[in-house]
Amino acid sequence: MIDFSLPDDLVALRDGVTRFIRDEVMPYESDPRQEFHGPTDDLRCELVAKAKQAGLLSPHGPVEWGGLGLNHVGMAVVFEAAGYSTLGPLALNIQAPDEGNTNLLHNVASQAQKERWLAPLVAGEVRSVFAMTEPDGGAGSDPSLMRTEARPDGDDYIINGRKWLITGMEGASFQILMARTFDQQGNDLGATMFMMDNDTPGIEIVRVLNTIDSNSPGGHAEVAYTDVRVPASQILGEAGKGFRYAQVRLTPARMTHCMRWLGAAVRCHDIATDYARQRQAFGKPIGEHEGVGFMLAENETDLHFCRLAIWQASWLLDQGEQARNETSMCKVRCSEALSAVVDRSLQVLGGRGITGDTVVERIYRDIRAFRIYDGPSEVHRWALARNIMKRN
Ligand SMILES: Cc1cc2nc3c(=O)[nH]c(=O)nc-3n(C[C@H](O)[C@H](O)[C@H](O)COP(=O)(O)OP(=O)(O)OC[C@H]3O[C@@H](n4cnc5c(N)ncnc54)[C@H](O)[C@@H]3O)c2cc1C
Repeated sequence: MIDFSLPDDLVALRDGVTRFIRDEVMPYESDPRQEFHGPTDDLRCELVAKAKQAGLLSPHGPVEWGGLGLNHVGMAVVFEAAGYSTLGPLALNIQAPDEGNTNLLHNVASQAQKERWLAPLVAGEVRSVFAMTEPDGGAGSDPSLMRTEARPDGDDYIINGRKWLITGMEGASFQILMARTFDQQGNDLGATMFMMDNDTPGIEIVRVLNTIDSNSPGGHAEVAYTDVRVPASQILGEAGKGFRYAQVRLTPARMTHCMRWLGAAVRCHDIATDYARQRQAFGKPIGEHEGVGFMLAENETDLHFCRLAIWQASWLLDQGEQARNETSMCKVRCSEALSAVVDRSLQVLGGRGITGDTVVERIYRDIRAFRIYDGPSEVHRWALARNIMKRN
């Protein structure tokens, strides 16, 4: 028999997060400290302080560094509850890219690196970035096109190149940078991850991009690296293993996107359902017109199946499986089905849907990028198709 029941302590935590989000976080959703590129760090710090006080900060973080140490199923349950508010993930310190970086550092960083970068990250004291994607024909869907280079110079490496779409760069304290790395003889070792404080000389924000979404503090930036000197001790893991570590980061990170967006889509559906019950047209509530009722039914169906897929893939990760296919399928289906839920919810709201009077308009804009980052849908389908063709 498949047991879908949740442990009592997880149910209690989920209920605590649900209350915290409703009572403490949702009142901030109209706070003016949410600017064109995203919430300000001042707002983030205020919310983080509240979550810390409530004992809910960093549910994903390792216990030894002050987090709650949840497994993947635990995260699925709690992240959905947090995602119900546009500011929930920020408050609990589980927003991308910090959440994925926490997992990566926990798994790969040395003890000294953990003390320097992981500890303040789990404590919510700082923000971080993950810098892989490049402009002008460099790394994107195909990371092997990476052009940013790291070349050895004594015990250091000198880094030159350019990155873009780097979430949260403005205001973040440190970064994990991917660069093509060469040895003393000029041999290409592959990609390496480097830990760097963002005030290291030679790192410069070229511009903060104007984007469709506005849910990340600092927005998304283009960053230039000019003769940036980094000691070899700041390599994360081993030189040349960057692409392998990227999988360590990206597989669970695409699942946590699904979890947070599930909560956001549930919120949109709840708002649409309330409206469909109250709003009258042609002699009855609009939800009793089949066109609207069927949209609500589709929403519930999509939410249900996304939740099942998330729980199943999370359970596989908890069993120590790589679950590459399952997490890919989950990312494709959740990004598309949850976007459809948000789109239908907006439609049910009529003209109100496109106004800032509900969070649906904001979520509609923010969720669009989910089909692109951490692997566009087409790339996941392409990878799945290759695996299908190889299967005996
Ligand atoms: C909101 C947002 C935040 C981001 N944050 C970060 C960040 O913090 N750090 C970071 O490093 N990057 C970040 N990214 C970048 C993101 O990872 C890339 O946008 C993504 O990997 C796609 O790369 P690209 O934009 O270069 O698209 P391209 O590689 O130019 O691809 C364009 C399109 O081509 C199609 N395509 C590509 N390959 C295939 C294929 N094999 N089969 C079929 N179709 C294909 C897809 O439809 C794809 O959308 C972010 C992106 C967004 C939108």
